[in-house]
Amino acid sequence: MDALDILTNLNRCFPYFQPVFSADEHRVIGYEIFGRYNDNGQVISLGSFFQDKSIPDEYRLEVDNAVLTKAFELATELDKDVLLFVNRDADLLIHDSGEAFLQFLQQFQEKGISLKRIVLEISMDEPKDEMDHLLNYYRTFGIKIAIDKLGEGSSFLDQIGQLKPDIVKVDLMPLRSMNPPPAYKDILYSLSILARKIGATLLFKNIEMVYQLQFAWQHGARYYQGYYLEKPISNFITRDILKDKLKAEFHEFIIYEKKKLESVFQVTERFQTKIQEIINKNRKTMNFELLLKALGKELDQVALRMYICDEDGFQLSPNMLKKGIDWEMQPEYMRKNWSWRPYFLENMIRMRNDKKGLLSDLYCDIETGEITRTFSYPINAHEYLFIDLTYDFLYKNDTLL
Ligand code: CA
Repeated sequence: MDALDILTNLNRCFPYFQPVFSADEHRVIGYEIFGRYNDNGQVISLGSFFQDKSIPDEYRLEVDNAVLTKAFELATELDKDVLLFVNRDADLLIHDSGEAFLQFLQQFQEKGISLKRIVLEISMDEPKDEMDHLLNYYRTFGIKIAIDKLGEGSSFLDQIGQLKPDIVKVDLMPLRSMNPPPAYKDILYSLSILARKIGATLLFKNIEMVYQLQFAWQHGARYYQGYYLEKPISNFITRDILKDKLKAEFHEFIIYEKKKLESVFQVTERFQTKIQEIINKNRKTMNFELLLKALGKELDQVALRMYICDEDGFQLSPNMLKKGIDWEMQPEYMRKNWSWRPYFLENMIRMRNDKKGLLSDLYCDIETGEITRTFSYPINAHEYLFIDLTYDFLYKNDTLL
């Protein structure tokens, strides 16, 4: 499509709207606005036009504003709490120090579209200080900020940290295969923690299949967008159009997740009983090495590594590590301190107060590279046993994976 054709036929430019659904209400909470061009009855996306930096800023802004004006005129008919997600290139915003965009939005305030309903979607390659100031200025008017298209590599954490967006958009495109690389899930998990810490809402986009919807739900997504739910369309839809469908699907997710959690709980209980039994049998053994050996006999195939720490995380015993069919004592681990590990002290306090063991989440063992979980157990108020589990054991109890 020729850029000049678009510029000389602004009347053929018009908006498309893609609904955004929420997990808490199962209904439409907003629309993202896209630009389209009517080429003799054929609808063409204006996305590549807006991103083409060889087209002067003024021209791109002109087309963008023509589409937005039509979109906002239509949007005056929406409920007064429906959000409008507006895409704007960071460079185009800075072009006029952001004032023209603000004035554009303000003229629709009189027609009932409060600035609080605007979600400005920013995509940028690297954080810019002037952007930071501009977004803070917009925020004083109640405009919400979303980061779409995060930069490559680790810089997205910087961007999120610096811009403190209200919404972070996560692209589920990499999740097209049924088995995405494990690191992808871990990165999204970190992202969900960070979002929670800074009070940002996660919006997962490009949801095209039900398992992506489930994945988004499992990873703390409050908002959802994608072809599986609704394609971009030229009009608005009934807000409750997917209410029953989403409710039923989320119900399935909840059942599945509860079953999984229940089975983790059952395994923890089984460990609790078993370890208690072994420790009681060996109460008279004050020697930690002998105690570990007694445990090793009973936890063949189950344990990968065992050791005992005091309540401050200082190791009181050697490591006992499974090497082939034998156990190896590693005295060099004596007196090492583990209190720096995430959740370590928190878990100690929990175990001491509940007088019960805990099963950790899945993680990758630093030394062996194996996926593992750790069962920790309070021998008494001052001595704590740690058992790293083998992958084989987790695999046989596959709800633990
Ligand atoms: Ca967008």
